[in-house]
Amino acid sequence: MNVNRRLSTPVTSAKAVYEAIVIGSGYGASVAVNRLAGLGVDVALLERGPERVPGEFPKTLIDAAQEFQLQRKSSHVGREDGLFDLRVQEDVSVLLGCGLGGTSLINGNVMLQPEAAVLQAAEWPSVLRNDADGALAAGYKRALLMLESTPYPNTVTLEKLTALKQQASALNATMTLPPINVTFSEREDTIGASQPACTLCGDCCSGCNVGAKNTTAMNYLHDAKDKGAALFTGAQVQWVEQTAQGYRVHYDLIGPAAQGEQPAPTSRSMECKTLFLGAGTLGSTEIMLRSKARGLELSMRLGEGFSGNGDVLAFGYNNDVRVNGIGIGHPPRDGADPVGPVIAGLIDLRNSGKLATNIVIQEGALPSPLAPLLPAMLGSASPLFGVDTDHGDSTAEVLRTLKSLARGAYKGAVANTQTFLVMAHEASQGRMQLTDDALTINWPDAGRDPVFQHISALLEKATAATGGTYIANPIWSKTLGRNLVSVHPLGGCSMGDTSDQGVVDDRGRVFDGAGGVYAGLHVLDGSIIPGSLGVNPSLTITAVAERALALYSR
Ligand SMILES: Cc1cc2nc3c(=O)[nH]c(=O)nc-3n(C[C@H](O)[C@H](O)[C@H](O)COP(=O)(O)OP(=O)(O)OC[C@H]3O[C@@H](n4cnc5c(N)ncnc54)[C@H](O)[C@@H]3O)c2cc1C
Ligand code: SF4
Repeated sequence: MNVNRRLSTPVTSAKAVYEAIVIGSGYGASVAVNRLAGLGVDVALLERGPERVPGEFPKTLIDAAQEFQLQRKSSHVGREDGLFDLRVQEDVSVLLGCGLGGTSLINGNVMLQPEAAVLQAAEWPSVLRNDADGALAAGYKRALLMLESTPYPNTVTLEKLTALKQQASALNATMTLPPINVTFSEREDTIGASQPACTLCGDCCSGCNVGAKNTTAMNYLHDAKDKGAALFTGAQVQWVEQTAQGYRVHYDLIGPAAQGEQPAPTSRSMECKTLFLGAGTLGSTEIMLRSKARGLELSMRLGEGFSGNGDVLAFGYNNDVRVNGIGIGHPPRDGADPVGPVIAGLIDLRNSGKLATNIVIQEGALPSPLAPLLPAMLGSASPLFGVDTDHGDSTAEVLRTLKSLARGAYKGAVANTQTFLVMAHEASQGRMQLTDDALTINWPDAGRDPVFQHISALLEKATAATGGTYIANPIWSKTLGRNLVSVHPLGGCSMGDTSDQGVVDDRGRVFDGAGGVYAGLHVLDGSIIPGSLGVNPSLTITAVAERALALYSR
């Protein structure tokens, strides 16, 4: 595979009509465009963000700042097609990816299947609850094959895993290596193009500059292009409407596609017979809410059932052992030890006997562009929000903090810091709505779910095993209102058996206002998942989409 091959063109070169249009390019959308192209459908994909090939992802703090967009209510700061899309909300803030490949460009690559009991919960459509036709199990299999998920092969001993092992023992658990979407041995294809092997740089969450991260651009989209799909960037879809022939998609040109177009931003539309929304939990829900406001009949459940997947981000700061959990860039900093893929280790605590307290803990590397910020950020959060888990070594701890401040993140306290990422089950009762035409998430008291106290107690115990200071996410503190941050938003266009229960059916077909489904209108992405999964969600999003496309007929 040639990882530097460009797959897309600006949307200004698109035709006015296609047989099918797919919106977005994350997991759900990539499956849709790939499988439709495989059926010989004349299909176009519309993505708002640009295409970035390896080498074009941020390398420095300045690069990262330029790729940062922040939206709070209807105000927006930064480039509207910036890679890191942070939605600041009252109750649950969300981080998303923007670009060809969706959030797979900046995620942690972990592919885990939820426990069987999760999919048997009442929120799931009955046909998926027992997977009577086996099509969901087949979807999981196809997803893992396409994304080439594999555990870290443990070729180099990683200090962050050694620390996690110690932390797992303190919780009476063992550390395991989950499947991740990373290529560990260089591969050549039949025409001699190759995908390089992972250099263990740890920068997966700022985008892989090597080409070893198996984002959707590396597999589903690459293959879709080969099968004849047209992939377009710079199209921010606003709303959709039903027409006599199918659907009209209204979009604005953004980024390079808008340059030179007058007036900017230029609004355009495109038509198709079949439409798949895959713009992610926030993106698809926002498009559907706007479409409903303009007359498309949709379920009353639209916007309901938002979940942050019980996400927690926390730190075991300034441990007595080295963790080496800060990315080292590509090419790596001189003499730097390999960090490993961003997430390589897992403590699976899904054995408490109750879904409500079943959680998974993963370690994570922080990307190298953030390294200059970390000594001051973690050094100041520690006395304000931290809990020192051991006593009698405060001089050594202060000296390590000073060492990081003086010599940077790769020395001292920050080099001894473990980043924890946790997923759990929460009530999934957030509500998305449009306020001044911008998506807002309302979920007062989301962070007061008892599961977050449970997680905090476990992480403090894990941190004590390596003698660090436990720092919970500062915005979850009592003073700052117990707010949450999620990188795994779900819901809003949830699946259900009927339009009273959901916005789409088990195959992502959108319920109409007359007791049936719209012909040719689908949603396939995180927005249709009807509740927290308690594990990283991409595998399930991909599997549900694979199932829907396997059962799809033109
Ligand atoms: C830092 C981080 C780490 C993560 N780690 C993991 C992990 O290890 N494992 C895991 O399973 N998950 C992880 N996730 C989450 C995971 O990546 C997402 O759950 C998944 O990508 C969601 O897939 P999706 O198909 O719903 O949409 P997305 O992947 O979010 O893709 C949606 C796409 O639609 C585009 N879009 C949005 N609105 C519009 C519009 N109006 N018009 C046109 N295009 C639009 C977006 O730009 C984007 O490309 C992580 C996320 C982050 C941020
Ligand atoms: S560790 Fe580095 S090389 Fe490996 S997948 Fe992540 S970003 Fe790419």
